[in-house]
Amino acid sequence: MNIRENIMTQLAIKGGQRLREQPLPARRTMGEAEKQAVIEVMDSGELSGFFGSPGPQWLGGEKVQQFERKWADKYGYKHAISVNSWTTGLMTAVGAMGIGPGDEVIVSPYTMSASATSILFYGGIPMFADIDPDTFNITAATIESRITPRTKAIMVVHIFGQTAEMEAIMVLARKYNLKVMEDGAQSPGVKFKGKPICGFGDIGGFSLNYHKHIHTGEGGMLVTNDDQVALRCQLIRNHGENLVEVEPIEDLTNMLGSNYRLTEMQAAIGVAQLDRLDGYVAHRQRLAAHFGKQLAEIPGLTPAKLADGAEHAYYLYPVKYDASVTGISRRVFVQAVNAELPPVKVWEQTGFIEGYIKPLYFAPLYQKKIAIGREGYPWSVNTDVEYSYRKGICPVVERMYDKELIYTPLIREPLMESDIDDFVSAIKKVLANPKELLD
Ligand SMILES: *Cc1c(COP(=O)(O)O)cnc(C)c1O
Repeated sequence: MNIRENIMTQLAIKGGQRLREQPLPARRTMGEAEKQAVIEVMDSGELSGFFGSPGPQWLGGEKVQQFERKWADKYGYKHAISVNSWTTGLMTAVGAMGIGPGDEVIVSPYTMSASATSILFYGGIPMFADIDPDTFNITAATIESRITPRTKAIMVVHIFGQTAEMEAIMVLARKYNLKVMEDGAQSPGVKFKGKPICGFGDIGGFSLNYHKHIHTGEGGMLVTNDDQVALRCQLIRNHGENLVEVEPIEDLTNMLGSNYRLTEMQAAIGVAQLDRLDGYVAHRQRLAAHFGKQLAEIPGLTPAKLADGAEHAYYLYPVKYDASVTGISRRVFVQAVNAELPPVKVWEQTGFIEGYIKPLYFAPLYQKKIAIGREGYPWSVNTDVEYSYRKGICPVVERMYDKELIYTPLIREPLMESDIDDFVSAIKKVLANPKELLD
């Protein structure tokens, strides 16, 4: 039976035959170049070149510095500073911006938790701004509505891979004298209006964890065009010890430092991985165009939309789902489509997933306002302000999470257009048989 005939048969979730039995190809990004790079470091015996104390090695070993230079040059940033995760990268960025107790930082609640917890680590207070219902990013308008006299910075997340409207956000930031940080974890290698993201604001960067476009197991890369900001990041990454030697820095805030250093083996892998990034992004953009064209013809499903001037790296592919059009609840639709696809061995082979991340402010951390210590710090710093993370503060995010958004990771290499076609057939099969799903 071919796939077209299968569309007319019983749904797999009801005991029918799956539309596709053949497993989806597994993603594997480590190749010969990475293997050789690791062996070379192994042979040298030098697994980390860092010293915390003053001296030429305070900026790390050969591979770390090579990786940073290569990233900066390739995408046109003045500085790149590697870190051992993007979570510690975000903390470094918040620290370097001079955020302190009681400072408010505006951020999206529809993102990975660290975009906001990094603010709390320095006593900053996350202020959640709503998203645009088409791009899922915060906008200049939603950010402006959250500005108060205590606002110090904006943390812009380029979510799912689509670049946020950085020009308008920078105009706003200048008007209110705010620092701008960019979380590009899901969108490496893309531009907004021709300029690489994470180079608009004061500081930005990317994740190198296993699930991201390119990875070093764990890791992250900060980027900035500002010399002082770069120096502050380098100091925070490496215990702040070298403060006694480097050029006097203007602002000693948050210079206590830690150890967020990447190892030589990871950096060597990163050097090789970087050569793959543009190819991955181009591949995903091709798959997304192919997928989007077909989705656009299916009533009840709205494909990802690209904003004016934006690019998309497709870490994930978001789709808006309208149950009132399809006659099938979102949950049942997702389960039924997934049942048509081969069993999932790794998360990346899942068809659809509902909702994305629960709006961050619903986490106990925000609901109970217990972050550091038991006394409500850092919210307690601003004694005259009543902070509320009640339901309803970001209605678009809540609507996307509760009702409208589904997303798929089936947009990544090594999938091909034919795999996407099977996915679309699975969607069509489910939509063609709504009655079967009623009970
Ligand atoms: C993955 C991710 C992070 C965290 O990166 P790690 O390297 O896993 O610490 C932060 N923000 C966003 C948006 C992410 O997707």
